[in-house]
Amino acid sequence: MRVIRGRDEGQPTARGSDEWFTGDVWLDRIIPAGGHEAIHCSAVTFEPGARTRWHTHEGDQILIVLSGEGRVSDTARGTTIRAGDVVHIPAGEKHWHGAAPGTIMSHLAVTAGEAQWMEAVSEEEYGAF
Ligand code: MN
Repeated sequence: MRVIRGRDEGQPTARGSDEWFTGDVWLDRIIPAGGHEAIHCSAVTFEPGARTRWHTHEGDQILIVLSGEGRVSDTARGTTIRAGDVVHIPAGEKHWHGAAPGTIMSHLAVTAGEAQWMEAVSEEEYGAF
């Protein structure tokens, strides 16, 4: 067992790559990818309007919304998410997640396996809520 206390053992906050995100996104890697663990975990903070590109994960992903209001969508439908909500994204399901237009949104992301990054979420797709 290992207890990770706050950011004591974490890496510095990193800006999310434009290859993964639209807008400004900040990553605190809690359990970094690329280690021997089966899962990795990050706290992700999206500035207003920022969101991931469309993507899939090799394994399941759990998002736990910590603060703010956000949006999550698969190819069938999207929904608003708020602090306390938990989203389960099955392995291989194409989706995106991000902040609502007027607020920062932070979530924990617990993920198994690597992500496959795809096209950017268009303004039309982002706005269809
Ligand atoms: Mn995801």
